Amino acid sequence: MIDLNQELKGKSALITGSSRGIGAAMITALAKAGAHVAVHSSGPSELGETVRKQCEAEGVKACLLHGDLSDKDVPSRLLEACTEQLGSVDILVLNASVQFRREWSDWNTEEADTVLGVNVRASAEMMTRVLPQMQKAGWGRIVTIGSVQQNIPNPAMALYAATKCAQLSLAKSFAVQVAKDGVTINNIAPGVIQTDRNVEALADDDYRQKIANLIPSRTFGMPEDCAGALLMLCSEAGRYITGADIAIDGGMGLGSH
Ligand code: NAP
Repeated sequence: MIDLNQELKGKSALITGSSRGIGAAMITALAKAGAHVAVHSSGPSELGETVRKQCEAEGVKACLLHGDLSDKDVPSRLLEACTEQLGSVDILVLNASVQFRREWSDWNTEEADTVLGVNVRASAEMMTRVLPQMQKAGWGRIVTIGSVQQNIPNPAMALYAATKCAQLSLAKSFAVQVAKDGVTINNIAPGVIQTDRNVEALADDDYRQKIANLIPSRTFGMPEDCAGALLMLCSEAGRYITGADIAIDGGMGLGSH
């Protein structure tokens, strides 16, 4: 792990979906680097409170926010709450997402609305609403969390893969428009990372082996594996990187070998 010491001291960061998994590992890393942090979960969360306390133990301000991002009021409410409690949103990581494993022929309009609402609409709205304050401050970092499925679609998650492509496209479009204002926008695309959302699928030995064989490193990632790239992008070391799509996948995006 890169040790950025107090590199982000004085900055305030909001990571959606940071009560567990990749988001929790990333927000803890930002707190260790000195940033004040807003931990977020879909609803009231004991896990979120544990993460908040871990962050606070690093000597930074840490608050816990909740709200389901499929609810249209939540994106603006989260940004307002973070600004109220921490003073600003200098770093925004759009990490929360929803996915349903479904065959493409098994259409469900309600689920589709939720996937599109959380993974695309909420991300677009949060980027749009936070950018003016970042531009005014002359400094800002937005990181979207994509997926290896941007490039290797999973037949059981076609819509989810499409939303990750849409979010990447939004990140690039906005990146072009705010680059001159000291604001960078990048995408981190994880492969298979061992989090709650994969526990059930990876519990099946045959499936686990099949997926491992698709990964050149033959290993699954840990949530912490996503934190180093985030720290680099948020620090001054990353100031000239914008519109990038960084894979953290043990080579999975390169295809099976
Ligand atoms: P996770 O362990 O399932 O955690 C999801 C987080 O998002 C939780 O904090 C959860 O809050 C929050 N969340 C879920 N639905 C929400 C909603 N409707 N509104 C607001 N917040 C919501 O996820 P993860 O595996 O760490 O994945 C994090 C990101 O990485 C996601 O964007 C995912 O698509 C991407 N990704 C993951 C993998 C992987 O292998 N794990 C691979 C590629 C990409 P609660 O705790 O309240 O439920």
